[in-house]
Amino acid sequence: MKFFDELYEQTGFQFDRSVNIYYLIRDGYHFGMSFNGSQYYLMSVVASEKGFPDLKALKDHFKPIRSIKSVATQGYRVIYVIRPSLKQTKLIENIREALDQILEYYQNNGYHNCCEVCGKVCDSGLYMVGGQVRFLCDEDYLDLSQRVLQRNEEISQMQGSLLTGLVGAFLGSLIGVVAIILFGQIGFVSALSGVIMGVCAIRGYEILGKKVSVLGLILTCLIMLGMCYLANRIDWSITVARALDWNFFDAFRLCEEVCRWSEVIDSYFASLAQVVLFTLVGAAPSIANAIKGTKNLTITSVINKADKGEEE
Ligand SMILES: [Zn+2]
Repeated sequence: MKFFDELYEQTGFQFDRSVNIYYLIRDGYHFGMSFNGSQYYLMSVVASEKGFPDLKALKDHFKPIRSIKSVATQGYRVIYVIRPSLKQTKLIENIREALDQILEYYQNNGYHNCCEVCGKVCDSGLYMVGGQVRFLCDEDYLDLSQRVLQRNEEISQMQGSLLTGLVGAFLGSLIGVVAIILFGQIGFVSALSGVIMGVCAIRGYEILGKKVSVLGLILTCLIMLGMCYLANRIDWSITVARALDWNFFDAFRLCEEVCRWSEVIDSYFASLAQVVLFTLVGAAPSIANAIKGTKNLTITSVINKADKGEEE
């Protein structure tokens, strides 16, 4: 039997494919469950009589229960890590047992389902907002939707400028050049200076250009690569100038020839390749963030009024 089907049969958890989340309503409590590649995280949002759930009491209670590997809280949110198992039936059994234990604990200790923002005890809805799970009351859902709408509008109206963006990328890459030369001269690994180059150039583009574009990012990458070449050449020229007692400008002009004569040209290009590699490593997450930052946020309702009506 397929995992989804067996999980549904044993626990009632349903899977929302559009946002990759499992959800369940049982005895008035709402649960969400997500999988991060190795572990299942079970989430619920509950209030005790005193307000926030009591983490210490939860930890003490669930410690001897094998199916729950660990418990953590974030405000009203309680997150349980399900003990993993390679066997599907065992894993589902763990989820089922964890659920039963959690429900029993909530019912015996005066915990009620609530909204994670205001803590109001209610049938909070479960929403996915830009890839994150949120349990919200109707008022906070409306409030959040309005803010998301406003943010999306602001982003779509934001004017990006390619020219100022490239000026920013150039200025940012100068920081990278300084790092590559300084670290090169003290004989430090070029990994960190490459990462600095990648991060600063993209951030520079974002700060001055505001909204990133694909063309802007491609040109920024070309600027970074050019600056890597320049920085590496300056770094080696300083070394050449010192070794031969030349002035820097002659050394810069003849740098590659000198490296060829003295048979260190392979190391020269190897250090360039290393800087470029780490620049790309540093730039990749910054590029991903820059693109994500200007994307529209979406809200998907996983458990909404209609679902609640059917279940009850
Ligand atoms: Zn609320």
